[in-house]
Amino acid sequence: MTSHQVTMRNGELAEIRETDDGKFLCPICDAEVPQTPYDLKTGKPSREWCPNCDHQWGWDDIIPPDSPPGTIARKWRELREQWERNGGGGSPRTYSQAD
Ligand SMILES: [Zn+2]
Repeated sequence: MTSHQVTMRNGELAEIRETDDGKFLCPICDAEVPQTPYDLKTGKPSREWCPNCDHQWGWDDIIPPDSPPGTIARKWRELREQWERNGGGGSPRTYSQAD
């Protein structure tokens, strides 16, 4: 597992994790996804949907550019708690494009 520190639009450093076989973990639900939710260099969101928790990165977790450091981490935590409350919790399933 590799941990990338990615600069978000508010300047906050957020963690994006990459598995040893080149997949990425959703910052909200920890599901394995084929592409990084946020560009590792620019911090730009992919605008894709997580197939596991159905959040769209860069949309559902959007934060104002002038928000203080820690905002995106808190946002991800809130979205995860919300998702778990709605019954989405449990062990994240692995997503494969071949399915
Ligand atoms: Zn997710």
